[in-house]
Amino acid sequence: MGNREKEVLPLKQRAIEILARLKRLYPDATCSLNYSTPVQLLVATILSAQCTDERVNKVTPALFDRFPDAESLAIADLVELEDLVRSTGFYRNKAKNIQAACRMIVSEFDSVVPNQMEQLLKLPGVARKTANVVLGHAYGINVGVTVDTHVKRLSERLGLTQEKDPVRIEQDLMVLLPQPDWENWSIRLIYHGRAICKARSPVCIACELADLCPTANKPVVVG
Ligand code: SF4
Repeated sequence: MGNREKEVLPLKQRAIEILARLKRLYPDATCSLNYSTPVQLLVATILSAQCTDERVNKVTPALFDRFPDAESLAIADLVELEDLVRSTGFYRNKAKNIQAACRMIVSEFDSVVPNQMEQLLKLPGVARKTANVVLGHAYGINVGVTVDTHVKRLSERLGLTQEKDPVRIEQDLMVLLPQPDWENWSIRLIYHGRAICKARSPVCIACELADLCPTANKPVVVG
């Protein structure tokens, strides 16, 4: 057994037990964003940056009614697009990225959202988090772990990573968790973050992970 494995083994067992409990706690957990096609999921995920899924779901019905696919979004009037996504915040940047990504999908990928990480990362406004969501939920492909604000916070509190950078946190989690569970891990951790392990006031007393959590009942550090 190498040093790295020795270091990881107890942590890995803990991560697997946390995963099993999350599955029991949130058996039907699924992506909270509403969408009908991969491009709609891509757009909804871009809009979810610095915004709640609930807010995004209020915006997308009118948006997808008006611009349902990559072709229509690629030629949309930018001001109209900005208006439609305004309430999600950072709307100018989001509208610009959505349009630029859709233009590239139309011109380089035959109007189909690519199903490979390297190709997705070429799209404007798409980093690993968005790409992992699209691959995991639109195509059922697990090539990484989605690390959003909830996954970051809970993975740190649960002592599964010491890293701060989402890409490094993702690498740590990929070592600890079985690949088929990468995407469902994130979804369930997000559920747990919303329900129990909240940013400013984690409810450790009601948390079914408390005996596995090194920061249970400790003062909250908001990063
Ligand atoms: S015990 Fe507390 S800090 Fe740990 S995961 Fe549960 S709610 Fe979060």
